[in-house]
Amino acid sequence: MADVKVPFYGHVKQYLNLKKEIDSAIEQVLMSGTYVMGPTLAKFEQECAEYMGVKRAVGLNSGTDALWLLMEAYGIGPGDEVITTSNTFFATAEAVWIRGATCVFVDIDPRTCNMDLDQVEAAITPRTKAIIPVHLYGQMVNMKRVAEIAKKHNLLVIEDCAQAMGAAGPDFRVGQYSDGVGISFITAKNLGTFGDSGAILTNRDDIADKILRLRNHGSSKRSVHSPGWNSRLDEIHAAILRVKLPHLDEWNDLRRARAKDYAELLKGTSLQLPYEEPGYRHIYHLYVIEHDKRDDLQAYLKDKGIIALTNYPIAIHQQEGFPWDRKAVVPKGGLPHTERSAARVLSLPLYPELTRAEVEYVAAAIKEWDKQQGCCGCCGCK
Ligand SMILES: *Cc1c(COP(=O)(O)O)cnc(C)c1O
Repeated sequence: MADVKVPFYGHVKQYLNLKKEIDSAIEQVLMSGTYVMGPTLAKFEQECAEYMGVKRAVGLNSGTDALWLLMEAYGIGPGDEVITTSNTFFATAEAVWIRGATCVFVDIDPRTCNMDLDQVEAAITPRTKAIIPVHLYGQMVNMKRVAEIAKKHNLLVIEDCAQAMGAAGPDFRVGQYSDGVGISFITAKNLGTFGDSGAILTNRDDIADKILRLRNHGSSKRSVHSPGWNSRLDEIHAAILRVKLPHLDEWNDLRRARAKDYAELLKGTSLQLPYEEPGYRHIYHLYVIEHDKRDDLQAYLKDKGIIALTNYPIAIHQQEGFPWDRKAVVPKGGLPHTERSAARVLSLPLYPELTRAEVEYVAAAIKEWDKQQGCCGCCGCK
């Protein structure tokens, strides 16, 4: 195998860029003697809520917990149906199943790869309780439309914002048109710590307070409990996230700039490039292209020292053993756009630390590969 020239992640580079501040923030926590449920978490929650423009944030130990704890707080459980997409990270569906509820999948819009909102109403039954739109790859779903559908049918809306912290729509924000938002801070996310953590956001105090208790063994007062869980965001992670949060907008701008470079350099090739909806702030958690010969392209790039990965090559309803002993509904006609996309997706390296020169190297390799494929006659490339 060739030496890695363009890695898939820039985690260590990001650490080295902020090493002094991060090391000092960690040391302060270590010297404080308080490692869970301390003042650093409280400060981060406040800063996170302010950044997102939502009333409350509650730190948790993962984005998965954020999604299911929101459902628990809203009383979603066995017998209830939750509409979402099968073209997402597995955790979206897992959170529904953790609550014992039924996952109802709708297909995607093949351009954005987000939930096709035209198909949501047909999936609603008397048992439907909620919709979970996933802002996939860093581009928001049209939340105004989701909210209209939800209002008409009296449904809850929980946003899976694990990939889209800092994204926005043309005239709406994350958290503005929903009952709650789940975020993940696992390392690879646009705002990531060195390990696991996540948060919920909501404008409802009662829901935030409920999740504050649930995450801490059902306790809001020492020794007083009701059944809950352990899902706390540690002080060390909160300290790291506090150092990183002020850089998020600038990092997202850099992601957008490198995505623009890719788009410009790959124009005219046979690749299907990411579609940015007009007026949306897509923050490119992932830069996902599509091609019928995806596997071949991935192997070619690897030979050139370029690491490209697949998100997500197996849709949830295509996983082996699906649906196991869980409850799930796949429409009669299947999910053709989801399946086609899963077979074709390839994520190119994209992170704030990626340089324009690295993008040029990747693009040159792709063009070389593309030339060898001959003309498909379909895209006007020749
Ligand atoms: C990362 C991710 C999650 C889960 O977050 P964790 O912190 O890993 O539990 C959920 N949904 C989507 C779309 C994700 O990308």
